[in-house]
Amino acid sequence: MNWFIKGIRMGVKTEDDYHHETKWPSRLTRVKGGEITCPTDAIGEEWKQERCIFCRACEPVFSPTGETLTPRVERSDVTFKRSFYLYPLDAGSCGGCNLELRLISSPQYDMTRFGIFFTNTPKHADALLIMGNLGKRMEEVIRRAYDVIPSPKLVILLGTCAISGGVTGIPPDIRGDVIVPGCPPTPASILDALIKAKGGDRK
Ligand code: SF4
Ligand code: SF4
Repeated sequence: MNWFIKGIRMGVKTEDDYHHETKWPSRLTRVKGGEITCPTDAIGEEWKQERCIFCRACEPVFSPTGETLTPRVERSDVTFKRSFYLYPLDAGSCGGCNLELRLISSPQYDMTRFGIFFTNTPKHADALLIMGNLGKRMEEVIRRAYDVIPSPKLVILLGTCAISGGVTGIPPDIRGDVIVPGCPPTPASILDALIKAKGGDRK
């Protein structure tokens, strides 16, 4: 039984506006002066969102804004307007990004209503979605997955680790078309990025 029928029987409701439930901040702002030791060097001249793991070690000098939607979409493609298949690749994650990504298929967020789907094979995918801190040995795996995805294709970097190497990894030598910061990013943030990447339409 698919979740839709099961959901109706159980009284589960998909959110019309899925943004208002997410409170986890994806942005910080400086509220007072002072020295900070940041484990990821996210704080220099300015705060670098893509390096921040939200450990909160910089509080109270930096404070969360509560703003959750912070993805950057460098390239979108209307080819994917009707359907957009993602091949998720875990390249050494802690599991956090996987959990949040999984949630976009839940009844609450229901990515399928926006024409977004997962696939288990890169040959059927439109986008490679990478999570984790990309250890050296994953480089070839990523390359092989990328090569068999038919063109046009997008690369999505999900979470601080995939974007910047996080605490233990190395910054990946991969150009991301879609960057979704956060540690982990919120499901709302992920969904917004994917909707924009597939051509910008909400439906
Ligand atoms: S929350 Fe942690 S990682 Fe982010 S800027 Fe503050 S100290 Fe650095
Ligand atoms: S970005 Fe954060 S949640 Fe995602 S894999 Fe890295 S440590 Fe885990």
